[in-house]
Amino acid sequence: MTQSAKPQHDFSFAASIPEGAVPLESILCTEELRRRPSRPPDYEKENRALMALAATLADPTSNIFQRFAEIILEATQCGSSGLSLLTREDGGKRFYWPAIAGMWKPHIGAGTPRNFGPCGDVLDRNCTLLFRHFERRYPYFLPVTPLIDECLLVPFYVDGKAVGTIWAIMHTDRRRFDAEDERLMNTLGQFASLAYQTVDSIEGLRAQITARESAEAELRRLANGLEAKVRRLVDANVIGIVIWNVEGAITEANEAFLQMVQYGREDLVSGRVHWMDLTPAEWRDRDERAIAELKATGIFQPFEKEYRRKDGSRVSVLIGGAFFEGSGDEGVAFILDLSEQKRAAKVLRQTQEDLTRTQSEFAHVNRVMTMGELTASIAHEVNQPLTSIVSSGDSCLAWLANEPPNLEKARASANRMVQAATRASEIVQGIRATFKKSTPTTASVDLNGVIEETIPFVHGEAQRKNVSLRAELHAGITSVNGDRVQLQQVLLNLMMNGIEAMAGLDTEPKRLLIRSAVPNPSELLVSIADTGPGIDPELASRLFTPFFTTKPQGIGMGLRISRSIIEAHGGRLWAEQNEPRGAVFHFNLPSATASE
Ligand code: ADP
Repeated sequence: MTQSAKPQHDFSFAASIPEGAVPLESILCTEELRRRPSRPPDYEKENRALMALAATLADPTSNIFQRFAEIILEATQCGSSGLSLLTREDGGKRFYWPAIAGMWKPHIGAGTPRNFGPCGDVLDRNCTLLFRHFERRYPYFLPVTPLIDECLLVPFYVDGKAVGTIWAIMHTDRRRFDAEDERLMNTLGQFASLAYQTVDSIEGLRAQITARESAEAELRRLANGLEAKVRRLVDANVIGIVIWNVEGAITEANEAFLQMVQYGREDLVSGRVHWMDLTPAEWRDRDERAIAELKATGIFQPFEKEYRRKDGSRVSVLIGGAFFEGSGDEGVAFILDLSEQKRAAKVLRQTQEDLTRTQSEFAHVNRVMTMGELTASIAHEVNQPLTSIVSSGDSCLAWLANEPPNLEKARASANRMVQAATRASEIVQGIRATFKKSTPTTASVDLNGVIEETIPFVHGEAQRKNVSLRAELHAGITSVNGDRVQLQQVLLNLMMNGIEAMAGLDTEPKRLLIRSAVPNPSELLVSIADTGPGIDPELASRLFTPFFTTKPQGIGMGLRISRSIIEAHGGRLWAEQNEPRGAVFHFNLPSATASE
């Protein structure tokens, strides 16, 4: 039970027993009660008091303890009366006075220690006690005025446990308590227990009510907060929000939704916005599925659909919703306008298409550049057979000019001219094929055969430059899968380079050695070795870069193109120093069996 505000005097903590305190017996005079002349019992008055008490108990709004104190005052005709209750919060270390009637009323809320005071004495002895001038033993009463002449104290219990006392005080000796007072107080003592329990349960009830009220207030606060948040969501118009019923009518919608479907609020109010009208026929099935889901689970998961706007155009939306709790016919749905996303997706698709186009344009440009390189190579490649034609033509003329003309030799020269011209035409065809994006013709090609075919093309040039040509070809099968003309081109390039490298040298011998070998069953190796100046180590890394040349008439594409061709055939082309001098160019290719 709660304690009221601190009163003027509070002795409840003056718990020490002072020096020289008189013994308890000297302030007790309980026995006298029975010896004193007693007034006759006034049962009528007593009944009235008890009735009044019963009425008080029945009225939870009344101050039961205070009424109780007043009833004691009236019944005993004393100067002050009241209740002392053991405190609960500290485990009953003191008494406090929740109610006082009469002259001591200003002391409501004060109290006394449990271990040293008249209330404690009464509980210890477990009986009614009459005290006289107890300030002689308990000096903390001295400042509490008016002073006490006699005090009648009665303990009371709840469930056999002492909880407090009721008391009546005479401040003067104009009247002394008698046996009738004792009887009355004992009767009231029994009611005190009842009053205590009543107050206790009322307070418990109040506490419960307060707790429930604060819980309700909290709920209200949360609901208000939530409502405010929902309102914010609705008003923010970030997404469309509608309230609908099972008949398909839209009864409430925010601006965002109305704008999405281009309806006005007046359409809404007049009931013209109906689910069915908004939904194009092909979306009805999807809606039906959502409705079935809604009926089964109370919600429908978001899905994409289209709405028909008032002007007939369509808008893509994402929609999800739920029934209101406890309602089987009304619910809420949110609608997200997907136009922006769709537009963004379209832009993205467009960008991707543009990118793909740019890529293919780039590839084309790349091809054109490659073609540029190829164009540069035409002169180079075609130049060789042309040179050969010219030199064979010269020889042919010379044999014809002989007396008599050496027709045999002239025919051979003419044959070489035809061969070189054929080769030039093949080169041109090959280049044209590349331009046309046609793939090189891949067939099983005998590499030794290709070498043997190519040597005659450089024969004249070698003779002129005083270079001896020799071929050391592998005795076994040397077939590769590839393009015969391209491989000829590579061999021609490498042989011509070797001859040209030795052209200006005075030193002998000038030898060009062409070898084929089979280092392992899956690989063929061709080497073209010369006895020229060899490769300048400083330039070695640049040999294969386009347009690198050290020759005044050079184009610098031969090695580059040769390497591309060999790599396209799955092989490798590289250069080394020849021993004891000169350069050697090697290329390897997968043997036909390996590449199959
Ligand atoms: P080009 O013959 O038009 O110069 P290439 O790409 O065929 O173009 O050759 C590039 C360069 O590589 C030549 O200019 C030359 O300096 C060097 N080179 C090629 N073959 C040899 C070789 N057998 N010996 C020394 N240097 C060579």
